[in-house]
Amino acid sequence: MNTNTNDDAWARPSVRLHPRPGTPAITDSHIGGPVLWPRDEPWPHCDGTTHTDQGFDTGDTRGVRNAFTAAVQLYRRDYPELPFPDGTDLFQLLICPLFHEPDVNTFWPDVRLVWRDSTTVTEVLAAPPTPAAFEPMHLARPCVLSPCRRVEHPTVHEAPEGASRSDWSEVAVSTKIGGWAFWYASGPGDMECPECGAYRELLLALHTYERAEPEFCFEPEARPVGWDFNDGALNVWVCPENVHHPVKVMSE
Ligand SMILES: [Zn+2]
Ligand SMILES: [Zn+2]
Repeated sequence: MNTNTNDDAWARPSVRLHPRPGTPAITDSHIGGPVLWPRDEPWPHCDGTTHTDQGFDTGDTRGVRNAFTAAVQLYRRDYPELPFPDGTDLFQLLICPLFHEPDVNTFWPDVRLVWRDSTTVTEVLAAPPTPAAFEPMHLARPCVLSPCRRVEHPTVHEAPEGASRSDWSEVAVSTKIGGWAFWYASGPGDMECPECGAYRELLLALHTYERAEPEFCFEPEARPVGWDFNDGALNVWVCPENVHHPVKVMSE
């Protein structure tokens, strides 16, 4: 854990994505739209070993092998803030839309991260396979994005002891790249990368609600994407040393 109390050490760039329903193309950055996937590359499936017997709409799905669903696609030209490995220019996030065993006391979908070189994709998969089972609350409708850039400081849950926090910026409670997670009740828990020990950093926060200014004011179209992560966010953290090290996912 970083114990430096210098404010600059805790300021992180963040990109609020401001999703709204639309018709994104396969060559666009988007949520819930068509993804650029090579026709000859197998589509990822969840092996079901961490599925639960308590699905809202699906009941017992323990052991059910399930196709992931395409959730997010972001190009490097639009979002250079993402930690693209050398030789890649396209980030894709897939979701297994069932409930998985929790680390603590709630359930969330599982995720798969893909970092790809879009220029090598010539033959495109027409459509991903349909999942065998899904919770409707975990599906996204196609949305286009209107990004805005900000700097965020952590909430008290991740701030260093002794930090004054008086001039610190707010943590956005909305879908975003980077920045810091908004914690309602719990805290970050085990953030150390099991591979190398680095403190993992927030890659992406997918929120149930998009909040307008001021924060905590719900707009009429407060759920543009349509998904629901326990009324909060599905947060994904990656290792700052290597995005291929184990990711942490948590709904809060
Ligand atoms: Zn699954
Ligand atoms: Zn690591």
